Amino acid sequence: MDELIDATGMLVMPGGIDPHVHLEMPFMGTFSSDTYETGTRAALHGGTTTVIDFILQKQGNSLRAALEEWSGRATGNAVGDYSFHMAVTDFNDSTKEEIKEMIADGITSFKTFMAYKGALMIDDRQMIGLMEEVKHQGGMVTVHATNGDMIDYLVQKNILEGNRAPIYHYLSQPEVTEAEASERFADMANYTGCPGYIVHMTCEGALNAVRNATRRNQKVFVETCIQYLLLDASLYEQDFDGAKWVMSPPLREKKDQATLWAGINQGLVQVVATDHCPFKWEQKLMGKDDFSKIPNGHPAIEHRMELLFSEGVKKGKITLNKYVEVTSTNAAKIFGMFPKKGTIAVGSDADIVIFSPNEKHTITASAHHMNTDYSGYEGLEVTGKVKTVLLRGKVVIDNNKCLIDKGYGQLVKRKKINGII
Ligand SMILES: [Zn+2]
Repeated sequence: MDELIDATGMLVMPGGIDPHVHLEMPFMGTFSSDTYETGTRAALHGGTTTVIDFILQKQGNSLRAALEEWSGRATGNAVGDYSFHMAVTDFNDSTKEEIKEMIADGITSFKTFMAYKGALMIDDRQMIGLMEEVKHQGGMVTVHATNGDMIDYLVQKNILEGNRAPIYHYLSQPEVTEAEASERFADMANYTGCPGYIVHMTCEGALNAVRNATRRNQKVFVETCIQYLLLDASLYEQDFDGAKWVMSPPLREKKDQATLWAGINQGLVQVVATDHCPFKWEQKLMGKDDFSKIPNGHPAIEHRMELLFSEGVKKGKITLNKYVEVTSTNAAKIFGMFPKKGTIAVGSDADIVIFSPNEKHTITASAHHMNTDYSGYEGLEVTGKVKTVLLRGKVVIDNNKCLIDKGYGQLVKRKKINGII
């Protein structure tokens, strides 16, 4: 029998897509604290039905080996749907051979790091080589665009001078480190013709690099994250508590928030993601005496949709249609999942959020579903609440209850990407 859901007075929207999450990721001697099970379940509670996680190649090893490791953690454990980006940390002749296979397997976006030297960073020679091959095979290169050498220098300098509190994490990654790398990435993408996407952009200087690229008719996609729109660097001006928001890049200034909101409305910023990479407080304490040892990242996967609605739509900063674009439709289009995901239409997956636009509630760690013991938004009252969520036509969340078990979530294989949406 058909099921009837009464959505009177509700908004009915496509399920959210968060294309930037890190679940159970090995990092800085520990693992991010949400598993595929807890992370995708928390995402569903917040109206996000699909996430894209990052597989990290180990330098010296193959892409295939990394894919197997990540598949082992995800398969049978995800509650919501998921897909993978492949982070290429060591581009050489054998990696090059694997790009085509990855694309055939539905992994069509390749993440690069211009920072974290010796672990994740590739140099410009590798970047150009990767871009040429990825363009040739029909994929996209995405980037963590910050100048790794400059940051390493500033971190070292601060440590030597005895500047060890969390605020020095922020002061070691000034805006110029991101602006410079964003411009360099755009230049290399322009030269090779490879579709490019900058993840977690935070600041005016970086967005202006992309704005400049439009003057030569280049398109570079830009993602920001919810925290860069809502929070600012003043949170680091407290003792160790500032470690809650230690992430890279760091939170910025009020003027950068204004730039990012404007960038969304100007069509320069297409996606609002989270860079969800949660740690428990005990893990953050690893950096108690040294900011450079604080695991980078914060929990956000559950509240992106409600926060952006409350602070963006309700406060008149973005329209409801823009909200749907930046939380769902654009990510589906950019990453080769449209129209399976990102829209409500005949033939699509029926990932649907039923949202109560006027219901107020307060964000608190004691009520959230993420596997971490603090919230970056503790005590914040938001307007608008996810009531019911459908994933592939099945009701999976109803009134704060998850109705499915782990293993329901499916891997989404993505199509080739040509950089046009
Ligand atoms: Zn990330």
